[in-house]
Amino acid sequence: MLRWLFGGCATCGALLAVAGVILLIIVIAVVIIVAQIYVAAIYTWLFGHETTIPTTIHGMPTTGVITATFHDSDYLAMFGVQHTGVDIAGAEGTPIYCTSDDAKVEGKGYDAAGYGHYLKIRDRDSDFYIILAHLRQPSSYDIGDDLDYGDLIGYMGSSGNSTGNHLHYEIRDPGNNPVNPEGSEGCCH
Ligand SMILES: [Zn+2]
Repeated sequence: MLRWLFGGCATCGALLAVAGVILLIIVIAVVIIVAQIYVAAIYTWLFGHETTIPTTIHGMPTTGVITATFHDSDYLAMFGVQHTGVDIAGAEGTPIYCTSDDAKVEGKGYDAAGYGHYLKIRDRDSDFYIILAHLRQPSSYDIGDDLDYGDLIGYMGSSGNSTGNHLHYEIRDPGNNPVNPEGSEGCCH
């Protein structure tokens, strides 16, 4: 009888030990998950990288094939710098449209070593920016002009630092940090 009780107790102890280990693993897992959420929040707070693109910026700015994604690894290997937008390649002269519901032109220019002919617009609702680069010729819009969704901004070209006809479509947060345009509804997949 005593032997039976002793044996029973030993099994009981082993089971308790196993349960304790399982509980400890669960607690550690929860702590790690919560810590990761806080680290991400602190990172966003420190560097201001807003990754949620507002719904007032949506759809495709043009038609074509995606040839380079945001932070594309092939692009990085080839040029040694991060790709800050999405490249959409198509025929020269393909129309390029405004993807913001309500915007204002904030920048316009020509950068031979980079964007070529470009237009930078600000989404009024969110203060996010959109840059449309390598346009065939300067946009007919100027700084200060108002834009609505679907307005014809210009035509696809290969101006600036470009190896072929494509649109470099870039979205930046209010702090001017590029974010992945794939995060905007209906774009770039
Ligand atoms: Zn590009």
